[in-house]
Amino acid sequence: MIATPALRDTPGGELAAWTHMWMVAASLTLEHLEDSWVDAEPASSIGGRDALSLVVIDAVRNVYRGAKATLPRDSPALARFDGAHPQLVRIRDFFEHFDEYVAGRGRIQQKAGTPADEGIGMQWKRSASGGPSGHTMVIAVREGGERAEYEVNATLAVKAAQMLARAVLEHAGLLDARHVGACRYCR
Ligand SMILES: [Zn+2]
Repeated sequence: MIATPALRDTPGGELAAWTHMWMVAASLTLEHLEDSWVDAEPASSIGGRDALSLVVIDAVRNVYRGAKATLPRDSPALARFDGAHPQLVRIRDFFEHFDEYVAGRGRIQQKAGTPADEGIGMQWKRSASGGPSGHTMVIAVREGGERAEYEVNATLAVKAAQMLARAVLEHAGLLDARHVGACRYCR
């Protein structure tokens, strides 16, 4: 997974390499998540998958951040990601600032005029796991007078991040035969 030194030796190439590294972090964490299921312990298996999903979404968010910094504004890869995962940046904001959201004081809650003294501002609503559909989580967030629900699937988010990172490498001129031969995520 080592990129060509000459091309990497530019800010764009370095950004692409970091973006790719975040994608690998998301992918490896997802593999750990998928391998972690124990049939005899469904409750703790789901709990473990929820916990790893926090890290997965954080890493996917950073892939998106790198893609925004490197790809042109009208990039089809960015448009595809935005179309498939319109809430992902917002969900990562919930995870990163969970303390503020649980208290009802998160950025989006403040924008929506949410009163901060009316109980729990954000709750982990439910998770679904096992089978080919991967791990799905639903988060309920109090926004203004309403309670909005957000759903995120860790497997689909990582698949989208892999496509995005590949587009970033290609744009930077780093997606050569050597990389594709060595990197199972970009094949
Ligand atoms: Zn790769």
